[in-house]
Amino acid sequence: MIRLRDITKSYGKGAAATKVLRGVSLDVEQGELLALVGQSGSGKSTLLNIIGGLDMPDSGSVEVLGIDTLKAGETKRAHLRNTSIGFVFQAFNLLDHLTVHGNVIIPASFSKDSKDVEARGHDALRRVGLSDYAKRRPGELSGGQKQRVAIARALFGSPKLLLCDEPTGNLDSETGKGVIDFFRELNAKDGVTLVIVTHERRVSSIAKRVIAMRDGAIVETSDDELHAQAGPA
Ligand code: ADP
Ligand code: MG
Repeated sequence: MIRLRDITKSYGKGAAATKVLRGVSLDVEQGELLALVGQSGSGKSTLLNIIGGLDMPDSGSVEVLGIDTLKAGETKRAHLRNTSIGFVFQAFNLLDHLTVHGNVIIPASFSKDSKDVEARGHDALRRVGLSDYAKRRPGELSGGQKQRVAIARALFGSPKLLLCDEPTGNLDSETGKGVIDFFRELNAKDGVTLVIVTHERRVSSIAKRVIAMRDGAIVETSDDELHAQAGPA
């Protein structure tokens, strides 16, 4: 599903350049639930964005769902994002002037896909248990409800791959648990492949595999170290 080889990435030029990724190779199989842990600044978000085609590496190769995303043009990358990849961010990234339903169907406005948009939007909201909130505005919702709207938006295109960047980082522990349970079910029942960047032990504990990053590289770590890095349960 995902095949990364020797990915490097720097920000800035010359002496001021910061190496953010130093030769990352990683394979993710279809159906995996993978957690990516590591200290702030270790390159997790950069790596996730490269997997999703939102950012480009300086060198290396990236294959996602059989597509070489570096050789593919932006049109093909956008098509891949719209049809196969969902993103969930810590900050929800909802548009306050749209209704909840309007936020969920936003991906349709970025693609030529106009089939059953209304109904599919309602279907996505039903999956996250927010059918009754379709006409509300994001400003009227709790943090957990906002994240469920963001998840519904990510699920709108029926993605095979869901990329989540600290999805429970802004949620209290009870609300976060609901989101985590939903991810686990999405993986177990619907076979969606998940890559979740997280600091939280309770998130990494549902992962089938945990990968740790340090200073832009994947590091081999024992289970105990991984648990310590992911923080308290
Ligand atoms: P993490 O998600 O693990 O906290 P990031 O991938 O966000 O790490 O960032 C890794 C490093 O890259 C950090 O030192 C960060 O400051 C730097 N960085 C990230 N994005 C940019 C950018 N757009 N411009 C310059 N530096 C950046
Ligand atoms: Mg980050």
